[in-house]
Amino acid sequence: CAKQLGSNQVRTDCARPPRELPPLMVETMLRHALRNRDLQIYYQPKVHAKSMQVVGAEALCRWRHPELGDIPPHAFIPIAESSDLILPIDEYVLRAVCEQGSSWLRQGYRVRTSVNISSRQFLQPSFPQLVQQALAESGLDPSLLELEITERTAMYDVERAVHILTQLRQIGVRIAIDDFGVGYSSLNYLMQFPVHTLKIDRSFTAGIQSAVNQTPIIGAIISLAKSLNLSVVAEGVETVQQFDFLRDSKCDEIQGYLFGAPVPPTSFQLSAFIATLQ
Ligand code: C2E
Ligand code: CA
Ligand code: CA
Ligand code: CA
Repeated sequence: CAKQLGSNQVRTDCARPPRELPPLMVETMLRHALRNRDLQIYYQPKVHAKSMQVVGAEALCRWRHPELGDIPPHAFIPIAESSDLILPIDEYVLRAVCEQGSSWLRQGYRVRTSVNISSRQFLQPSFPQLVQQALAESGLDPSLLELEITERTAMYDVERAVHILTQLRQIGVRIAIDDFGVGYSSLNYLMQFPVHTLKIDRSFTAGIQSAVNQTPIIGAIISLAKSLNLSVVAEGVETVQQFDFLRDSKCDEIQGYLFGAPVPPTSFQLSAFIATLQ
């Protein structure tokens, strides 16, 4: 399906997620992509709701396949997660993100950069060491690195998660619970997790001012977070109404297409450090 357009231009509108391909084949292709540096990291701004300042960026990886075009993460991350291949991918992204954060810092911008950590990587006994190494090699201030782990990862083995999170906190990185509210956490456990931030899942944001009104749930998550002294980020914010509702509900930070889709680091608008509504 891929059609060469120019010397190195590739049609991306027909990018066929490799879903129909056997997972083993995708794995082989992915290993090759990793060696070839065909995995690219895009950054999406996180905006402080009150001041509208860009305060952070989430790193999201993309697979730039020379023939199939850009392959989105949902088409390959789950396959990588079902094997150990996710380990070198997460490590690659972690190291690249530390380098990028450090480079922004040298340019005078303190951007908190977030990286998604899969369950398998998080549960590796050597994971805290890897984080420490990536920080040391890049020279990034630990407080500018945020690790996003999903609610499901944290709940998989609570005792172990608390132990790992405690080690990570000692290193000085920030920790966010991603996709919060989709149904795994027990409040009792949430209180035990030494984390800094809750990220409200996109499904709730999408339900603001829609037929299935999700505003009571969002209000409840925000008050819960505040009572635990956690900061709250809402993801998937696409409209001014969603933004207004979240800001008025005291959500701290906003992430979504309203302020910007994920873009390559060179296009990340650091010069316009104050966000503008699109
Ligand atoms: P996530 O961590 O929940 O990331 C948020 C997803 O929502 C991203 O999709 C982002 O592009 C998308 N998004 C952001 N703003 C909006 C919006 O306003 N509206 C809508 N409809 N979507 C929005 P993406 O980039 O396709 O990533 C999907 C998932 O893949 C991520 O979900 C994350 O779980 C995983 N992922 C991405 N990169 C990595 C990585 O480097 N490592 C690991 N382990 N997982 C990754
Ligand atoms: Ca995330
Ligand atoms: Ca999320
Ligand atoms: Ca999600």
